[in-house]
Amino acid sequence: MPLKIRLLNAGGPGLPRLEAIAPVVSAALGLPVEVERIPLDLQRAYDRSRQQHNSTALLEQVLALAGAADEKRIAVVDVDLFIPVLSFVFGEAQLSGPAAVVSTYRLSNPLYGIPRDDAALAIRLAKEIIHELGHTLGLYHCRQFECVMRSSTYVEEIDVKGAALCAGCRSMARIGV
Ligand SMILES: [Zn+2]
Ligand SMILES: [Zn+2]
Repeated sequence: MPLKIRLLNAGGPGLPRLEAIAPVVSAALGLPVEVERIPLDLQRAYDRSRQQHNSTALLEQVLALAGAADEKRIAVVDVDLFIPVLSFVFGEAQLSGPAAVVSTYRLSNPLYGIPRDDAALAIRLAKEIIHELGHTLGLYHCRQFECVMRSSTYVEEIDVKGAALCAGCRSMARIGV
């Protein structure tokens, strides 16, 4: 069976329409993408001292969801994510695993004192979704400047990279593109 992607809307006012992002993700990976709504227990992943959500705790909830063997699922949230060794993360994925999580929180202009730009937010989110799904497809970080698998620490770095896998990453991921 060919792989499919489940793009999971975990709710929240900061989320753009995922139905508009799904075709971008589908084209970049050459895989079918389905959008659905799911409940995640955000409170259970909340760290009171950091006032952020533990991304690994949310990833475990996504892993625990029932799913087919031939799917990759990624949950989209709008809360600030962290892992203990980093002040924040845009998202987290299980390398070669079935699940990932990504947040819009650090992708939206108002956080940086710039006017809201829904188109920019949607493009950044699409790139981060493709990036985290790339990890689930077995890809590590890539040094190619344009490649979506290049590591990004700041939102400006997301803006300068492309939304596509480079030829090397494409061949390693063994997918439909
Ligand atoms: Zn990464
Ligand atoms: Zn690459």
